[in-house]
Amino acid sequence: MKSIVCMSGVELLMEYLEGALAPDVREAIEAHVAGCPRCEAFIASYRDTPRIVRDATRMEMPADLEASLLTALRKARDRHE
Ligand SMILES: [Zn+2]
Repeated sequence: MKSIVCMSGVELLMEYLEGALAPDVREAIEAHVAGCPRCEAFIASYRDTPRIVRDATRMEMPADLEASLLTALRKARDRHE
């Protein structure tokens, strides 16, 4: 199969880290990463990021929270005008 090209595989690396890849793709990535310091560093930094932070950044803001935040921001702005 086609070998993993460095950095074009970032999406694949994400999925690899989430354990979402087919075994043959995962093997190809592992083979590449074993000989690639850049991808190895990427994986290391990703693994150092706590899952809760990744989940938080992925999460969308609830509509009511967004609305109250906008209201608060408008009030703060109005006070300065
Ligand atoms: Zn690489």
